[in-house]
Amino acid sequence: LVVLSGVNKHFGSLHVLRDIDLTVARNEVVVLIGPSGSGKSTLCRTINRLEPIDSGTITIDGRPLPAEGRGLARLRSEVGMVFQSFNLFAHKTVLENLTLAQLKVRKRSKAEAEKKARELLARVGLADQAPKYPAQLSGGQQQRVAIARSLAMDPKVMLFDEPTSALDPEMINEVLEVMRSLAVEGMTMVVVTHEMGFARSAANRVVFMADGRIMESRTPEEFFDNPETDRAKDFLSKIL
Ligand code: ATP
Ligand code: MG
Repeated sequence: LVVLSGVNKHFGSLHVLRDIDLTVARNEVVVLIGPSGSGKSTLCRTINRLEPIDSGTITIDGRPLPAEGRGLARLRSEVGMVFQSFNLFAHKTVLENLTLAQLKVRKRSKAEAEKKARELLARVGLADQAPKYPAQLSGGQQQRVAIARSLAMDPKVMLFDEPTSALDPEMINEVLEVMRSLAVEGMTMVVVTHEMGFARSAANRVVFMADGRIMESRTPEEFFDNPETDRAKDFLSKIL
């Protein structure tokens, strides 16, 4: 579904993505891990073209990423992204947060958008929070709203960049549970996370990055029980 081929990216003289080849199959859950600064966020951001690339190709569903204009807006709606910070519209209610892009980008009717919004709020366990404002919710609830907002666009793939890193420990699980259920339902996902329990239980594949390169790309069992590269061994010895 998502194919990166020979992707390179520089920030000035810093070579942040080096010859990245990565294929994410439909329904696959890929967990991206690696040391700080290894390029995980940058890689995620190239997939919905928040970051342009210097060379190589990225296709989604066989189509190259559009560079700009209407194609780009459609791409962003097809590739959902959830960040560490929840990025909700503070002055809109939860319901409005979920309907805005449906009305503007998907051109749905208000009734249709609200129906979808309420279904998704129920799915993330927040059916009764629709009239509230983001500041009235806990961090974990806000992040679940952010996930529901992305899902409202019927994305083909969801990107998660450390979605639980800003949360208090007791709220991490409620967000991981939503992500786990998405994975079980067959959502195609790329997830940057430090939650190794999630990686082990929900990932089809673990991709380990260091210095802008993909060093390993294997099943969680293979990766965690038997890392091949010294970089991965060193990384795992520090976090496990
Ligand atoms: P972390 O685990 O800390 O989130 P990461 O693996 O997500 O790290 P990236 O955020 O992708 O790493 O950053 C990769 C490298 O690119 C880092 O050295 C970072 O400082 C640099 N970098 C990221 N964004 C920019 C930018 N907009 N301009 C310049 N350098 C950047
Ligand atoms: Mg990052």
